[in-house]
Amino acid sequence: MVERLIRSKEEWRSILPPNRYRIMFEDGTEYPCLSRVDDFWEEGTYLCYACDLPLFASEAKFHSGTGWPSFWQPISTDAVEEHEDRSFGMRRIAVSCGRCGAHLGHVFLDGPAPTGMRYCMNSASLKFVPGQK
Ligand code: FE
Repeated sequence: MVERLIRSKEEWRSILPPNRYRIMFEDGTEYPCLSRVDDFWEEGTYLCYACDLPLFASEAKFHSGTGWPSFWQPISTDAVEEHEDRSFGMRRIAVSCGRCGAHLGHVFLDGPAPTGMRYCMNSASLKFVPGQK
């Protein structure tokens, strides 16, 4: 089990850079290909930028061609939470951090083997730590 970290939006706003705050706590989306870690293949772990919870391992990262960093599975089942998102006239599955609840991106069912999942993440929500976890 991941222990919850509860902070108000005002606290997060004072802690995070404005662009990261907007994406992680106001459900923003970053423009594709501006990403810091889209075309980036070093070995390591991707943490939640807000609370440092490990979210994805570099072994599960793949080139999706979307311009957003993409993974075929999270690092553990309770690292992320998934919930229905009906914004913008679409029906999507939003993905948030399992500890602090920050918005991370969306998951789609058109990913590669072995899971067939595509976790399409905002790079602003992630913090890369090099080396093995
Ligand atoms: Fe988090």
